[in-house]
Amino acid sequence: MKRIAIITSGGDAPGMNAAIRSIVLSCHDENIQCIGFYHGYNGLLNDEFSYLSVDLVAPIIQRGGTILKSARCKEMHQDAGLKQVANTLTKHKIDALIVIGGDGSFRGMMALQTYWSGNLIGIPATIDNDLACTDKTIGFASAIHTATQAIDKIRDTANAFERVFIVEVMGRHSGHIAFNVGLATGAEAILSFENCNIESLDLVKNDLVTQIQSQKQAHQNGFVIVLAENLWPNGPLGLQKDLQDTDNIESAVCVLGYIQRGGSPCPEDRILATELGIEAVKAAKDSTGVMIGKIAGQVTRHCIIRATEQNKPVDQALHSAYQQICLGA
Ligand code: ATP
Repeated sequence: MKRIAIITSGGDAPGMNAAIRSIVLSCHDENIQCIGFYHGYNGLLNDEFSYLSVDLVAPIIQRGGTILKSARCKEMHQDAGLKQVANTLTKHKIDALIVIGGDGSFRGMMALQTYWSGNLIGIPATIDNDLACTDKTIGFASAIHTATQAIDKIRDTANAFERVFIVEVMGRHSGHIAFNVGLATGAEAILSFENCNIESLDLVKNDLVTQIQSQKQAHQNGFVIVLAENLWPNGPLGLQKDLQDTDNIESAVCVLGYIQRGGSPCPEDRILATELGIEAVKAAKDSTGVMIGKIAGQVTRHCIIRATEQNKPVDQALHSAYQQICLGA
């Protein structure tokens, strides 16, 4: 094992830099050269790279984003693009490629296996936490922290004005962020894929209206609804309109958006990224097609196919907590 290549791909997540640092420092200990390719798979397509030294990565553990930049790369969906990426890896005599990213990035890795015989290792980094075979993905804890702080501030205004707020959080098509942030902020309602679908929208809205009306009478306080992105037709503005049109309930909308992806990683993400990076370098020597995860305190290796294809539902305990605390069930 002489050379490892690294890319960060898909949505950036706090802690990606900590993972890069951990890989480079681990490689240094073993005299393995590290090459970073820029802009996700595009860097491999266009042969855009830097040698990653200890000096370069030593001070980046606390930095958000990724020093290797990130991007989507549509050419990876075509044979010609995959072949070109494989050629670049062969040209640089790369023994293993470590991909730091989400499920899409790992699907790219699997597609690459047909054209390149080096070892392929994945490190799960996405704020969405939507990858199986790891309790948490890198960036998730930081995103929860950021969103919680933001909603705490919104809460002050919601209470002061006795107002309904609809706050949209990220998560793509999973409710890990919505449920965790909803519970952490004491949201009056959490609307996510786990407790709401296209058939149940009317029912959900009617329950919401009952909840808002009884809360208004009882406490004279604000009412915060945490809404998962991509859930309600026309998003938070759609829900706002539905509440206004049919029940004459006014509300304010706040889309947290990209602030959830940015910022300095929290200690939990820095530590997770460091542990997964160390194991990724070990795995790169003798395995391929694996993702490094951490389950119940143990750093483990998993088949990349399982990690991407298996569902990762929101913990049932969080549903129960929400039912009990917010809905009084
Ligand atoms: P996040 O969910 O945080 O945005 P991600 O890794 O899932 O991260 P995607 O945009 O889904 O982000 O994927 C990143 C890149 O991986 C794509 O732009 C593409 O280059 C590659 N990729 C995704 N799916 C495939 C696939 N089926 N075949 C080949 N390459 C793929």
